[in-house]
Order: sequence, then structure tokens, then C-alpha cells
Amino acid sequence: MTNFPTEKFKELKTPFYYYDMSLLEDTLSLVKKESEKYDFHVHYAIKANANDRVLEKIRSKGFGIDCVSGYEIQKALEVGFSPDGIVFAGVGKADWEIELGLKHDIYCFNVESLPELEIINELAAKNGKKARVAFRINPNVQADTHHYITTGLDENKFGISMPDLESVLDRMKELENVQFEGMHFHIGSQITDLDNFKDLCTRVNELQEWFISRQLFPKVINVGGGFGIDYDDPQNNPISDFASYFKVFKDFLKLKAGQELHFELGRSVVGQAGNVISRVLYVKEGVKTRFAIIDAGMTDLIRPALYQAKHKIESLSASSDAKKVRYDVVGPICESSDSFGKAIDLPELKRGDFVALRSAGAYGEVMVSRYNLREEPQAFYSDDF
Ligand SMILES: *Cc1c(COP(=O)(O)O)cnc(C)c1O
Repeated sequence: MTNFPTEKFKELKTPFYYYDMSLLEDTLSLVKKESEKYDFHVHYAIKANANDRVLEKIRSKGFGIDCVSGYEIQKALEVGFSPDGIVFAGVGKADWEIELGLKHDIYCFNVESLPELEIINELAAKNGKKARVAFRINPNVQADTHHYITTGLDENKFGISMPDLESVLDRMKELENVQFEGMHFHIGSQITDLDNFKDLCTRVNELQEWFISRQLFPKVINVGGGFGIDYDDPQNNPISDFASYFKVFKDFLKLKAGQELHFELGRSVVGQAGNVISRVLYVKEGVKTRFAIIDAGMTDLIRPALYQAKHKIESLSASSDAKKVRYDVVGPICESSDSFGKAIDLPELKRGDFVALRSAGAYGEVMVSRYNLREEPQAFYSDDF
């Protein structure tokens, strides 16, 4: 649970990100403990949050890292992550990004198409390297529980479709500068129903037999990320149930001798540790609604505007017995989508009050923009107060 040092906030310019570093620490410790029980390998998905202090803490715990661009690889290396813990995914890897990965001998390229495999092979040959590759396969587990071969997998831009997989494998056997490591999956994000991961395990079990029947042994199985967090009640449920999450894979995924299971967790690692702290600028009586206009906008936290995500809004200034008033909480940006919530009951707000937009640690600060030429929000950390 996060305690906000509201008195100290009074000296600071809003809006800003506030990171609860002890919650991050506790979350990381639990991920480590529960994954190490089964010798699972965890790569943190850096796209969720690339703040230096956050990355430094994650690195200090010894996790690997999952990158989806060359810039993320650069960042990971700068912060001191070891290249042999870097996995690199993405449907559109540019040549320079592949060459950067090759130069640093990153652990594995998660390959998403045949033309990409050809280019990785070509660039590896040019640079005198052999690239480790895993195939990203879209197992379509949420939409369909039928046998993998009967599902339509070709409509998604991510991953290699089942009909193509056979020819990709045949071609790979002819390529000299790529080495087969295993299979990669990532089925989606903010998944809270563990049955989805059970389904993934079933699909992986089937697929691995398919590979083995073609004389390819997947040494590594990477099941991606996607584990969700509790956006409704971050205060009482600040850490996702990693014990149950990892146990699903232990119980349902049939690992063979010599195989490693890898994960790429983003949101569930950092999501609850971050908050946007904002001040109320105006309370405006509309025709039908009462607006609370705050100084944070979609430039600081775009998830509500981008995909109607809900972040819990809390007043940090009012006493808990203050009477509740219903507000539409909106930002100052010139877009109607710049809204954080409609008909939210909050203790009566006044100009200057602090509000927190909770659970903003993942896909928050990394998506900050300077639209309307706004300043980027600063970040502050609980252990500095
Ligand atoms: C985004 C992403 C992740 C992390 O997803 P979360 O939902 O944040 O856990 C993992 N792997 C890949 C390939 C991704 O693109």
C-alpha cells in the first residue's frame, strides 16, 4: 500500500510521477522468489517503464530484459543489463537495430516473419556472427480453444502464422548464421483470468511436439508477459498474485529435460508503483455535470484517452469524512478525449487540492508526449522523501 507524503508535495510543481520504491522492491522480491522456485527466467519488458531509477532497481535484482526496439536495447545496455539476458521482439526490426543486437551478442531475437529471418541471417553473415533466434508464434488462445492447427492465426500482425511455420522452419535449416533456440509467445496484456494462461500452456505442449516431430528441439520456451494488475483497488491489492501465476505454468506446461521457461513481464512488475500526482485547477459547474479540471492531462498519462483505460482517482487533500460530490475529472488539453473519468464520487474538491491517478507505473511515463508544447512531468521517488 502506498502512503503519499502530501505535505511534501506542496513544494513541488504538478503534475509529476510519484514512484513508491518500496512497493516496487516488494513486487520484485516476490517475482524473484516465486519464479526461482521453479527455475523460471524473467525478462522485464522495458517498454512498460524505462525510468532510470526504476530500471536500476530492476537490474539490481538480476532480471533479464525484453526489448522491442534498438533504442530500448541501447537503454538497457546503458543501465547495465547484461546482453546475455536481452531478448528482442518486434514485427519491424530495422537493419541498424538487428546489427546493434548482433554487435552486442544479445541472447535472442524473437523472429516474427520469414523475411525478417532472412535479413537477420544476412546481417549476421556480414558481421561474422551467428544469431540465436526463437520463433514468435501467435497461438490464438483467447479467441479459440480448438486444436492449434484449425485456428485462423494469419490475421494478426504479430508472430508467424501456423500455415507459414513449416516453410519458415525448412528455410531456417538452410541458413547458416542463425541458430534455433526455441518458441516465443505473447498472448496479450492485462490478463487477470489465469485460465487464459492455462490455455496457452496447452497450446505450447501441442506445439512443442510439432517442433520435435520435425527434428527441432526448443531449448527455450518464452511465454511472454501479459499478467494483469488490479486497477480498481490498488491500495488493497498492490501486488498481483505471482505465486498462482507461476504455478499455472509449473502445473500445466510440460517442460522437457534441458528446457528453460522464460517470461517477459512488464505491467505486473511496475504498474502499481507509479502514480500521477496532480492539482485541481478549477471546479466548473457544467449544464449537467460538475467538472474537476486538473493540471495533469493526456500528455502525462495517455491510457484513458488511448484505450479508455480506467485509473483510480483519489483525493489526497480531503479528510476521509468529507462529503462526496460527483465529478467528471478532466485535463487541460484541447481534446475531448482528455478525460480521466466520468461521474466519479470524490470528497468535495477545491482549487489546489492534490489528486492521485493510481496504477500509472506501466505505460504511463514512457508514453508522455509534448502535445500542446507541454513540459514533460518530472518524477519523484518515495525513498527521497
Ligand atoms: C509488451 C510486451 C510484453 C509485456 O507485456 P505486459 O502486459 O506489460 O506484461 C512482453 N512481451 C512482448 C513481446 C511485448 O510486446
